[in-house]
Amino acid sequence: MLARPGLPDFEYLKAESPQEVFNLLKDKGPDLKLMMGGTDLFVQMRDRDSGPGTLLDIKGLPGMQEIEFGKTVGLTLGAAVTLNQISAHKDIRKYYPVLCQAADTVGNYQLRNRATLGGNICNASPSADMAPALLIYDAELILESPGGERQLPVAEFWVGPGKIALKEDEYLKAIHFPPPPEGAVGQYYKLGRSKMGDLAIVGVGMLGYPDPETPAGLRFKIGINSTAPTPYRVPAVEDYLAQHSLSDDVLSQAAEDAMDISAPIEDIRATALYQKKMVRNLTKKGLKEIWGSLK
Ligand SMILES: Cc1cc2nc3c(=O)[nH]c(=O)nc-3n(C[C@H](O)[C@H](O)[C@H](O)COP(=O)(O)OP(=O)(O)OC[C@H]3O[C@@H](n4cnc5c(N)ncnc54)[C@H](O)[C@@H]3O)c2cc1C
Repeated sequence: MLARPGLPDFEYLKAESPQEVFNLLKDKGPDLKLMMGGTDLFVQMRDRDSGPGTLLDIKGLPGMQEIEFGKTVGLTLGAAVTLNQISAHKDIRKYYPVLCQAADTVGNYQLRNRATLGGNICNASPSADMAPALLIYDAELILESPGGERQLPVAEFWVGPGKIALKEDEYLKAIHFPPPPEGAVGQYYKLGRSKMGDLAIVGVGMLGYPDPETPAGLRFKIGINSTAPTPYRVPAVEDYLAQHSLSDDVLSQAAEDAMDISAPIEDIRATALYQKKMVRNLTKKGLKEIWGSLK
């Protein structure tokens, strides 16, 4: 038997309306998979040599490819917006730069022409590169079902590797980001086995911004991937930073604490110990850089 036998047979359908999606989800159940760029889906179908009988392409549904931005309302991205569209958008680059930095690290340029933000979120890989940016910008997911829309903070959407809090009759329609804090500076650091085209061994996204109410005069948000069953924030570290007058020692302690909270498993890309130490190093590097530009 070939190690990679190729794609199993499947039926391809393109949805014309949300109602058609709901009807098909009901009729076909787990034998149907929603599809966007297919860059995760096809690899999984190929490697497992089995898969859904039907792929339902939902990229063309209303709102799925829209990008809306306003300084007071924030940013709303349709779930089918591609990573290259994010990277090329001047308002996203200006107001949510960590989204662009993260998008630019995913695979390669050709892949990013197909890979969508919604697919990256719904695939729920612990190493998803867009996840730290979504966490630090407090993304809210807009989920569509026959009963209407509901919103869910992105952190509540990931429940385990490959597992999401999506009901059987729902799909992800869009992602909303509130306006970023005034004066925010951000950074995404990704460590892979090579500089280009590898999944994250560790990725740390950080945002810092002035907050005169805190003893530090600043507040930080930190989102980390690849070192726990789901991407996560580290509120205890964020609070520690806000509550202390910042110094090199305080940043080092915060980075140590982030390392202690991380819970990676050994995998083909790195040992758990190496991943933990890299959480510390990347966190420290990012905090220092952001602190430096906010001083
Ligand atoms: C060569 C290669 C390199 C890669 N490198 C990286 C990398 O560096 N970093 C990284 O994070 N990822 C990487 N990926 C993974 C992948 O490209 C991204 O996760 C991508 O963003 C997935 O988007 P997609 O549109 O292709 O999703 P799809 O494959 O179409 O869908 C992914 C999953 O989400 C579900 N889904 C999609 N849209 C919806 C929706 N609207 N509602 C509900 N469920 C939905 C699908 O059913 C499927 O289970 C790589 C993949 C390849 C093949």
